[in-house]
Amino acid sequence: MAYINENYLKLPGSYLFAEIAHRVSAYKKENPSADIIRLGIGDVTLPLPQVSIAAMQKAVEEMAHKETFRGYGPEQGYPFLIEAIRKHNYTDRGINIADDEIFISDGSKSDCGNIQEIFSDNNTVAITDPVYPVYLDTNVMAGRTGSLMEDGHFEGVVYLASNAENNFSPALPTKHVDMIYLCCPNNPTGTTLSKAELKKWVDYARENDSIILFDAAYAAYISEPDVPRSIYEIEGALDVAVEFRSFSKTAGFTGTRCGYTVIPKSVTAKAKDGSRHPLNALWNRRHCTKFNGTAYIIQRGAAAIYTDEGQAQVKENISYYMENARIIREGLKAAGLTAFGGINAPYIWLKTPSGLKSWDFFDKLLYRGNIVGTPGVGFGPCGEGYFRLTAFGDRESTERAVERITKLTF
Ligand SMILES: *Cc1c(COP(=O)(O)O)cnc(C)c1O
Repeated sequence: MAYINENYLKLPGSYLFAEIAHRVSAYKKENPSADIIRLGIGDVTLPLPQVSIAAMQKAVEEMAHKETFRGYGPEQGYPFLIEAIRKHNYTDRGINIADDEIFISDGSKSDCGNIQEIFSDNNTVAITDPVYPVYLDTNVMAGRTGSLMEDGHFEGVVYLASNAENNFSPALPTKHVDMIYLCCPNNPTGTTLSKAELKKWVDYARENDSIILFDAAYAAYISEPDVPRSIYEIEGALDVAVEFRSFSKTAGFTGTRCGYTVIPKSVTAKAKDGSRHPLNALWNRRHCTKFNGTAYIIQRGAAAIYTDEGQAQVKENISYYMENARIIREGLKAAGLTAFGGINAPYIWLKTPSGLKSWDFFDKLLYRGNIVGTPGVGFGPCGEGYFRLTAFGDRESTERAVERITKLTF
């Protein structure tokens, strides 16, 4: 008899996007001519930078000839990409990262999900609420939590409430935690931690022998100087933090797939006998055992963004989205709504008016404005009373949506 991993049974169905689709299609059935605008898109919509296309076309051609064909590459990634990342995102910015501390992957979702495998099942996990679901769900699957409770939280997880009251800068946990997931700039709230606020977490990790798992998928969207682009800008982080980065939102690679994880060799954690072990070696072992590298063609496409031309093209796409973000943010303010984020991230997190629940606001926006967004409660219980709009739409429909919202009363 083969038994299943029963931890999977603790997970509720992925209800959020299915429920949104269900409500939208029910509305459309009654109102077939409605012009629905989607501001809930969590995916980029602009095409890949031209430099990436050209680099990938060239790489495809190399694959066509015996002399230049490539089979398996290094599991950790090709040196041309690792060096470009190391130089551009770290050493040129005064952060001391070595090439063998960078692991190329097929994207950050896998890395954020897989990293927990190198940690003990007995660790206590801290997660912000609301949150990108991958951190929590993968720890549930691994058995690092109890069951889902009435209040929407999992037993045994330390939740760090993140809301307008604490300016989206959660308080340190009152009980000891071993693994801390932070996402900055944040999905879904679009907010960030300042360097001083992040330093508080690094200090906590150092004092409590914890590890910070830092998701910086939106680093390229940061516009303000005091927001850390990398956790390693914070003094002491090189001993306690793992960083996840992705080409998905940076360069439109959501369907192309490339990301990377940085694990400085100075980051260590304990075995039961008290001996200390670098996480870099454990991750390297895992990566080489379970992963055979990201496609050469894709890595060429990713490396191309680090040329001057590539940087200019990436910036242009990000500026387009961030102009949408500005239009939404200012439009909501003009409409008398309270909104957060949208300055260092392509997400706007609005406080629902008149104390409406997230799903009630969803229905009002759909029925009265024909606009689809994402109910905040779908990202965790603390998201109740909030609503996420995204800047990934096109300019014209973003403007039209904002115009409609301005005319609504709630
Ligand atoms: C989009 C996103 C990622 C990137 O995932 P990929 O697998 O690289 O596409 C990672 N973290 C967060 C919070 C995201 O929103």
